[in-house]
Amino acid sequence: MQITGYGSHGVAAAVALVNGVTGEGGDDSEDALRTLLRECGFFWSQFEPRHAEAFREWGRTLRPFFEATELEDAVSLLNELLLQVPMHPHLADHDDPAGLHIHYAPPSADLTHRFRATTLMNLSELVCKYGLSRTGVCAAEGCDRVYADTSRAGRRRFCSEACANRTNVAAFRARRRDAPEGRS
Ligand SMILES: [Zn+2]
Repeated sequence: MQITGYGSHGVAAAVALVNGVTGEGGDDSEDALRTLLRECGFFWSQFEPRHAEAFREWGRTLRPFFEATELEDAVSLLNELLLQVPMHPHLADHDDPAGLHIHYAPPSADLTHRFRATTLMNLSELVCKYGLSRTGVCAAEGCDRVYADTSRAGRRRFCSEACANRTNVAAFRARRRDAPEGRS
Protein backbone atom coordinates (compact mmCIF):
# COMPACT_ATOMS: atom_id res chain seq x y z
CA MET A 1 0.00 0.00 0.00
CA GLN A 2 1.34 3.38 -1.01
CA ILE A 3 1.11 6.02 1.66
CA THR A 4 2.57 8.99 -0.12
CA GLY A 5 -0.06 8.93 -2.86
CA TYR A 6 0.61 10.89 -5.99
CA GLY A 7 3.95 12.08 -4.68
CA SER A 8 5.43 8.60 -4.73
CA HIS A 9 5.62 8.58 -8.53
CA GLY A 10 8.45 11.11 -8.41
CA VAL A 11 10.23 9.03 -5.78
CA ALA A 12 9.92 5.87 -7.87
CA ALA A 13 11.13 7.77 -10.92
CA ALA A 14 14.18 9.08 -9.04
CA VAL A 15 15.08 5.55 -7.92
CA ALA A 16 14.64 4.11 -11.41
CA LEU A 17 16.73 6.88 -12.95
CA VAL A 18 19.58 6.62 -10.44
CA ASN A 19 19.69 2.84 -10.92
CA GLY A 20 19.49 3.10 -14.68
CA VAL A 21 22.31 5.63 -14.88
CA THR A 22 24.63 4.69 -12.02
CA GLY A 23 23.71 1.15 -10.96
CA GLU A 24 25.69 -1.85 -12.06
CA GLY A 25 23.97 -3.38 -15.07
CA GLY A 26 21.76 -0.29 -15.35
CA ASP A 27 20.38 0.80 -18.70
CA ASP A 28 20.40 4.51 -19.51
CA SER A 29 19.72 4.17 -23.22
CA GLU A 30 17.11 6.39 -24.82
CA ASP A 31 14.68 3.46 -24.94
CA ALA A 32 15.22 2.71 -21.27
CA LEU A 33 14.67 6.36 -20.33
CA ARG A 34 11.47 6.44 -22.36
CA THR A 35 10.23 3.29 -20.63
CA LEU A 36 11.11 4.72 -17.22
CA LEU A 37 9.09 7.86 -17.94
CA ARG A 38 6.11 5.84 -19.12
CA GLU A 39 6.17 3.49 -16.13
CA CYS A 40 6.47 6.35 -13.66
CA GLY A 41 3.60 8.36 -15.09
CA PHE A 42 5.46 11.13 -16.91
CA PHE A 43 4.67 12.44 -20.37
CA TRP A 44 7.03 9.99 -22.03
CA SER A 45 5.80 10.79 -25.53
CA GLN A 46 7.51 14.18 -25.21
CA PHE A 47 10.88 12.52 -24.73
CA GLU A 48 13.38 13.31 -27.45
CA PRO A 49 16.94 12.01 -27.90
CA ARG A 50 18.27 15.50 -27.05
CA HIS A 51 16.85 15.07 -23.52
CA ALA A 52 18.80 11.92 -22.77
CA GLU A 53 21.99 13.50 -21.48
CA ALA A 54 20.09 15.85 -19.13
CA PHE A 55 18.29 12.86 -17.63
CA ARG A 56 21.56 10.96 -17.17
CA GLU A 57 23.11 14.00 -15.51
CA TRP A 58 20.15 14.25 -13.14
CA GLY A 59 20.52 10.58 -12.23
CA ARG A 60 24.16 11.16 -11.28
CA THR A 61 23.16 14.28 -9.35
CA LEU A 62 20.56 12.44 -7.26
CA ARG A 63 22.71 9.41 -6.40
CA PRO A 64 24.50 11.08 -3.42
CA PHE A 65 21.10 11.70 -1.85
CA PHE A 66 20.49 7.94 -1.63
CA GLU A 67 24.04 7.34 -0.42
CA ALA A 68 23.82 9.91 2.36
CA THR A 69 24.02 8.42 5.83
CA GLU A 70 23.56 11.71 7.67
CA LEU A 71 20.29 13.59 7.39
CA GLU A 72 22.23 16.84 7.42
CA ASP A 73 24.10 15.87 4.23
CA ALA A 74 20.93 14.81 2.45
CA VAL A 75 19.16 18.02 3.43
CA SER A 76 21.97 20.27 2.26
CA LEU A 77 22.12 18.45 -1.07
CA LEU A 78 18.37 18.81 -1.56
CA ASN A 79 18.49 22.47 -0.56
CA GLU A 80 21.28 23.14 -3.02
CA LEU A 81 19.28 21.49 -5.79
CA LEU A 82 16.09 23.28 -4.80
CA LEU A 83 17.91 26.55 -5.43
CA GLN A 84 19.05 25.36 -8.85
CA VAL A 85 15.69 24.05 -10.04
CA PRO A 86 13.16 26.90 -10.08
CA MET A 87 9.66 25.83 -9.10
CA HIS A 88 6.44 27.16 -10.55
CA PRO A 89 3.59 25.20 -8.98
CA HIS A 90 0.69 24.43 -11.22
CA LEU A 91 -2.62 22.65 -10.51
CA ALA A 92 -3.25 19.77 -12.88
CA ASP A 93 -6.12 17.37 -13.42
CA HIS A 94 -5.19 15.20 -16.38
CA ASP A 95 -7.21 11.95 -16.20
CA ASP A 96 -5.21 10.99 -13.17
CA PRO A 97 -6.67 8.65 -10.55
CA ALA A 98 -5.30 11.05 -7.94
CA GLY A 99 -7.60 13.77 -9.30
CA LEU A 100 -6.54 17.37 -8.89
CA HIS A 101 -2.93 17.62 -7.83
CA ILE A 102 0.06 19.94 -7.86
CA HIS A 103 2.78 19.89 -10.47
CA TYR A 104 5.93 21.78 -9.57
CA ALA A 105 6.56 23.11 -13.04
CA PRO A 106 4.07 24.44 -15.59
CA PRO A 107 3.02 22.31 -18.57
CA SER A 108 4.98 24.64 -20.85
CA ALA A 109 8.26 23.75 -19.12
CA ASP A 110 10.66 21.38 -20.80
CA LEU A 111 10.15 17.69 -19.92
CA THR A 112 13.55 17.46 -18.23
CA HIS A 113 12.76 20.47 -16.06
CA ARG A 114 9.39 19.05 -15.04
CA PHE A 115 11.06 15.76 -14.20
CA ARG A 116 13.72 17.46 -12.07
CA ALA A 117 11.12 19.54 -10.25
CA THR A 118 8.84 16.58 -9.50
CA THR A 119 11.52 14.15 -8.37
CA LEU A 120 13.18 16.79 -6.23
CA MET A 121 9.97 17.86 -4.51
CA ASN A 122 8.78 14.30 -3.94
CA LEU A 123 12.12 13.30 -2.42
CA SER A 124 12.04 16.44 -0.26
CA GLU A 125 8.55 15.57 0.97
CA LEU A 126 9.67 12.03 1.77
CA VAL A 127 12.62 13.33 3.80
CA CYS A 128 10.45 15.83 5.70
CA LYS A 129 8.18 12.96 6.70
CA TYR A 130 10.63 10.11 7.31
CA GLY A 131 14.16 11.48 7.38
CA LEU A 132 16.49 8.95 5.76
CA SER A 133 14.61 5.91 7.04
CA ARG A 134 12.93 5.25 3.68
CA THR A 135 15.81 5.54 1.25
CA GLY A 136 19.26 4.06 0.80
CA VAL A 137 21.59 1.78 -1.12
CA CYS A 138 20.64 -1.90 -1.32
CA ALA A 139 21.89 -3.89 1.69
CA ALA A 140 22.73 -6.96 -0.42
CA GLU A 141 26.39 -7.73 -0.83
CA GLY A 142 27.77 -6.51 -4.12
CA CYS A 143 24.66 -4.54 -5.11
CA ASP A 144 24.93 -0.79 -5.63
CA ARG A 145 21.33 -0.13 -6.62
CA VAL A 146 19.28 2.32 -4.56
CA TYR A 147 15.77 1.97 -3.19
CA ALA A 148 12.99 4.02 -1.69
CA ASP A 149 10.25 2.59 0.45
CA THR A 150 6.85 4.26 0.23
CA SER A 151 4.96 1.38 1.85
CA ARG A 152 3.21 1.70 5.18
CA ALA A 153 5.54 -0.71 6.94
CA GLY A 154 8.67 1.01 5.63
CA ARG A 155 11.07 -1.81 6.44
CA ARG A 156 12.62 -2.20 3.04
CA ARG A 157 16.44 -2.46 2.84
CA PHE A 158 16.90 -4.00 -0.59
CA CYS A 159 16.52 -2.81 -4.15
CA SER A 160 14.52 -5.88 -5.14
CA GLU A 161 13.00 -9.15 -4.00
CA ALA A 162 15.88 -10.91 -5.71
CA CYS A 163 18.45 -9.13 -3.52
CA ALA A 164 16.38 -9.71 -0.37
CA ASN A 165 16.07 -13.43 -1.12
CA ARG A 166 19.73 -13.82 -2.04
CA THR A 167 20.76 -12.18 1.25
CA ASN A 168 18.34 -14.26 3.31
CA VAL A 169 19.56 -17.50 1.75
CA ALA A 170 23.19 -16.53 2.37
CA ALA A 171 22.41 -15.67 6.02
CA PHE A 172 20.58 -18.97 6.44
CA ARG A 173 23.54 -20.93 5.04
CA ALA A 174 25.97 -19.02 7.25
CA ARG A 175 23.89 -19.86 10.31
CA ARG A 176 23.81 -23.54 9.36
CA ARG A 177 27.54 -23.55 8.76
CA ASP A 178 28.22 -21.94 12.14
CA ALA A 179 25.75 -24.09 14.04
CA PRO A 180 27.21 -26.62 16.50
CA GLU A 181 27.72 -30.23 15.46
CA GLY A 182 24.81 -32.58 15.66
CA ARG A 183 22.26 -30.14 14.34
CA SER A 184 19.90 -31.36 11.71
ZN1 LIG B 1 20.10 -4.97 -4.70
